[in-house]
Amino acid sequence: MAKHALMSPSSAERWMCCPGSVPLTQNLPDESSPFAAEGSCAHEVAARCLEENQSASIFIGRRFHDIVVTAEMAEHVDAYTQAVRDYRQHPSDELLIEVALPIEVITGEADARGTADAVVLSFGKQEVSVIDLKYGRGVRVQAEQNLQLIIYALAVLALYGVIADWQTVRLVIVQPRAGGVSEWVIAVGELEAYANQLRLAAERVRQALSDGPTHFLNPGEKACRWCRAKAICPALSAQVLKDVESIPETTPTTEIAHLLPRLGLIEDWCRALRAEAERRLIAGISVPGFKLVEGKKGPRAWDDPTQVESLLKSMRLKAAEMYDQ
Ligand code: SF4
Repeated sequence: MAKHALMSPSSAERWMCCPGSVPLTQNLPDESSPFAAEGSCAHEVAARCLEENQSASIFIGRRFHDIVVTAEMAEHVDAYTQAVRDYRQHPSDELLIEVALPIEVITGEADARGTADAVVLSFGKQEVSVIDLKYGRGVRVQAEQNLQLIIYALAVLALYGVIADWQTVRLVIVQPRAGGVSEWVIAVGELEAYANQLRLAAERVRQALSDGPTHFLNPGEKACRWCRAKAICPALSAQVLKDVESIPETTPTTEIAHLLPRLGLIEDWCRALRAEAERRLIAGISVPGFKLVEGKKGPRAWDDPTQVESLLKSMRLKAAEMYDQ
């Protein structure tokens, strides 16, 4: 099995902004979450539907990645597969599903690959469409300047550049649970500027890998949001503490307005730190001054466990935070 790329397309927003995140996250456990499992399940069903030209409804009740396919998931997957089929407009168009693309030409990482959900090669229009399914509903992802899809597009052009004179690239994100379809069309020539930025960022990641992360950390809400190193990152904790300490005793309205955009990062850090403390305590590692105590059991019971589960999922908690196992 191909090893996971250090500079993966899906984490490009992070390593472009914060090259030090690559060495800092390199050896951290990749804890799965219910959302990741749900996304993997939806992707698997979607790929099968496209390969077999089926509706996702035939998979209802079946289990993939430990998640049971529901009627709701089938409906969302069908919305995605229909969108993919719509982009394949001409019989000569070629559809590639779950295609593993070599990305070494962009990141310089030997043998690294990224898997695009769907690619349509439209020979008549001389256009490449890269289509991505996002199953999350918490954060709406836009196609415009999306680095993950730009890397896939550059990899497709490098791989299939000789079979046609490609003129345009269409990047498409289908996010059925958060806004539907987002699309961005760009001329092939204009992609080169993005390729150069990505190559420069990859070079900085290589420096961070050889020199250590310290001088390559760059906290910010976009970079840190999905970073697994949030709880242990010295640059993020320093940034949060600096922001908090800068709050004046009396807070004029202008200061509140200035602080509000920074709260997301502070809240993300607090959640990550609490989860890490709990993880260590559960693993038997001492956190001085803290211990786990069993809460009082009340007489209450859930009326509808499925509704509770979906509410907790919408709060983007980790499996360990959601379930008492
Ligand atoms: S938490 Fe933020 S600053 Fe720290 S490594 Fe991750 S992305 Fe970089």
